[in-house]
Amino acid sequence: MKKKFNTKVIHSGHGPDKETGAVMPPIHLSSTFKQMEPGNFEYEYARTKNPSRDVLEKLLAQIESGDKAFAFASGMSAINTVCDLFGTNYHIVCSDDVYGGTRRLFDKVKSNIDVTYIDFDKNINWNDEIKENTKFIWIETPSNPLMKIIDIKNTVNIASEFKLPVICDNTFASPYNQRPLELGADMVVSSSTKYLGGHSDIVGGSIVIKENKEYAEKISFIQNAVGAVPSPFDCYLLTRSIKTLSVRMKQHNENAIAVSNYLSNHPKIEKVFFPGTDKRHKEIAEKQMDGFGGMMSFVIDSDINGVKTFLKNLNLFTLAESLGGVESLIEHPAIMTHASIDPSIREKLGISEALLRISVGIEDVDDLISDLDQALSKI
Ligand SMILES: *Cc1c(COP(=O)(O)O)cnc(C)c1O
Repeated sequence: MKKKFNTKVIHSGHGPDKETGAVMPPIHLSSTFKQMEPGNFEYEYARTKNPSRDVLEKLLAQIESGDKAFAFASGMSAINTVCDLFGTNYHIVCSDDVYGGTRRLFDKVKSNIDVTYIDFDKNINWNDEIKENTKFIWIETPSNPLMKIIDIKNTVNIASEFKLPVICDNTFASPYNQRPLELGADMVVSSSTKYLGGHSDIVGGSIVIKENKEYAEKISFIQNAVGAVPSPFDCYLLTRSIKTLSVRMKQHNENAIAVSNYLSNHPKIEKVFFPGTDKRHKEIAEKQMDGFGGMMSFVIDSDINGVKTFLKNLNLFTLAESLGGVESLIEHPAIMTHASIDPSIREKLGISEALLRISVGIEDVDDLISDLDQALSKI
């Protein structure tokens, strides 16, 4: 049966348990499995494959409109697996405003990968950027922390001229709002720590691909050989969380629009970065997304002391890294999430000391706005 998204999040990956009739899937903690005779088994060893991860991976593949999914112990281990999949000593093109940890991995750990960072808002001469040993184009949209929107379809068209795969980090949108595989991307990477987990109590990651035997075999091989896999308990918890992804995202989308409207009209706010505010980005976002998500950043018209006063006075927005949970969070990219990026690069990207990023939760939005309002009045 062909299922729509809101049905998939609840019914994909498992039915009632065959043995007991349990409506929710059991957690299989066993690290090893009995073989009928040597080499005859469905499951062998839990790192390689286990029933709890199977349920999650089937569910992830379905909601991303993919063919196969691979779950990892973190978003970073998923990204690391993508790097390893393409070998060593090669070149990639990457959108410039990416998660700080992605840049750290590319620049400081994968030192044999040569990366060209590109601002996709500018006119790009692709013939100059693509090299003989370029292996893929990496995009993150909406981007972090400046909420830039990259046209996925357009990027796929350009990449196909050079016969290159496009890999999209879909963490900020979540598959509820955006499904890059439907737009032609070859691979989707997510940190399930964020919206997929949704309750700030799991660290996890995933890769989802379309039908591609070579990728599937290689990713599976690396997943097992390296062993950066999630525990059966985390697989269960994430499967459980995803069941409410649709209702959560609907509320995140709605609340964030109200908060961004409030901030955009506030005299102490210089600029708001939200997929729905910048005209050019909004057009692309409306084309490829079903909602703008709950993430935004903004520049306060003040110095660092004013910014700190504002942060100190917030009651509902917790000062913390990460995003995508039911609770609202706020963070200071230059000092927190993007501290690992060179100050000169940060400056060039527009990550200033007055820039703050918020993850709008699903609380009552009037309360969120009142909290921002009283804290802004203290600056
Ligand atoms: C958090 C994040 C990651 C890394 O994921 P972890 O689960 O923290 O390892 C990668 N990309 C984006 C966009 C993120 O927000």
